[in-house]
Amino acid sequence: MNFDTSCLHAGYRPGSGEPRNIPIIQSTTFRYETSGEMGRLFDLEASGYFYTRLQNPTSDAVAARLCALEGGTAAMLLSSGQAASFFSIFNIASAGDHIVSSTAIYGGTYNLFAVTMKRMGIQFTFVDPDCTEDELDEAFQPNTKALFGETIANPALTVLDIEKFARAAHAHGVPLIVDNTFATPALCRPFEWGADIVIHSTTKYLDGHAAAVGGAIVDSGRFDWEAHGDKYPGLTTPDDSYHGVTYTEKFGQGGAYITKATAQLMRDFGSTPAPMNAWLLGMGIETLPLRMARHCSNAQGVAEYLQKHEKVAWVRYAGLPGDKYYELARKYLPQGCCGVVSFGVKGGRAAAERFMAGLKLASIATHVADAKTCVLHPASATHRQMNDAELAAAGVAPDLVRFSVGLEDLKDLIADLEQALEEA
Ligand code: PLP
Repeated sequence: MNFDTSCLHAGYRPGSGEPRNIPIIQSTTFRYETSGEMGRLFDLEASGYFYTRLQNPTSDAVAARLCALEGGTAAMLLSSGQAASFFSIFNIASAGDHIVSSTAIYGGTYNLFAVTMKRMGIQFTFVDPDCTEDELDEAFQPNTKALFGETIANPALTVLDIEKFARAAHAHGVPLIVDNTFATPALCRPFEWGADIVIHSTTKYLDGHAAAVGGAIVDSGRFDWEAHGDKYPGLTTPDDSYHGVTYTEKFGQGGAYITKATAQLMRDFGSTPAPMNAWLLGMGIETLPLRMARHCSNAQGVAEYLQKHEKVAWVRYAGLPGDKYYELARKYLPQGCCGVVSFGVKGGRAAAERFMAGLKLASIATHVADAKTCVLHPASATHRQMNDAELAAAGVAPDLVRFSVGLEDLKDLIADLEQALEEA
């Protein structure tokens, strides 16, 4: 199936007389005739469901759909994007290990890495995504277990050179994990450029309607854990907490990583999505290509309008010729650069606040990447835990306004911007 068809049909094909929509299996538990049958499921000897904290048919169908869209071998849904970021790393790193990450990442991910996971004994080195290959190389240590970056960073809107990052990761025998939230597989499929694992905050474009918080992890199945077995004993040696199973041996290169994250981390942390939320995500994905095309064309129109406005100090949108990331975007995002545009209003922070207060159609919301246009000042919201140096490293200017362009008529959006800029 081609991409647009997979959005509608991958992961669930109803049999004769069965529901055409993915059924919502809103049940915590599943009934069995014998304890023996149940035991085989616990031993990972048979596939099936016993408790929704670990797996649920609705979530699995939607995970399989997303897996097909990214071109992976296995996938799982989680209760949030934060859970996905955490699981993606904690599945292969523990106390005493080290991770290299791009500085241009979502503020919540930065906090998770730099503060919370540091307290768990995992050290992070942050690198400018635009650094040279040599600088990237120098960030690695013998105990480095992964390299992490965002395809289009929130809110800096830097475009990641995925091939450069993949080369560095593979030269050091570690996987590249890419947060593909803003691009979605409709605009970029990081596996095609060498990434090994993709994560998502599905809360954004994949759901698309600001209806359900969620996350996902997809494995490309291409990273050879056994070739680097000394680094990844959790995948390549028996798991005593799970009946001595060796994930790579039993589930192969394509299934080991996600099976471990499900059997071990989901069992212990329980970051499970509600089946209803998984279903909403599945519905959102059905229209993903149509929505992304409109988000991109609307955002391009808004960026071009802002660029010409005398009250606008600067605009960052990789679809604008002359933007620092224009060339990388042409390579990695040929169909468009998503719906998020960043800009600064002349007069700095105070003018930005006046402008935002003047908007009538766009709402001020701690959200981004959904059907209705919304706007945020990250330095006083999502990134307020960062000092000025950290903000600068993350590419977030104090006057940065993040404008998430929705699916409205472009003429109405520009009229709203026009009147709000007049007041700024
Ligand atoms: N990754 C990116 C790029 C994000 O923008 C966000 C949230 O804004 C997250 C991860 C965290 O996702 P969630 O809010 O679903 O936990």
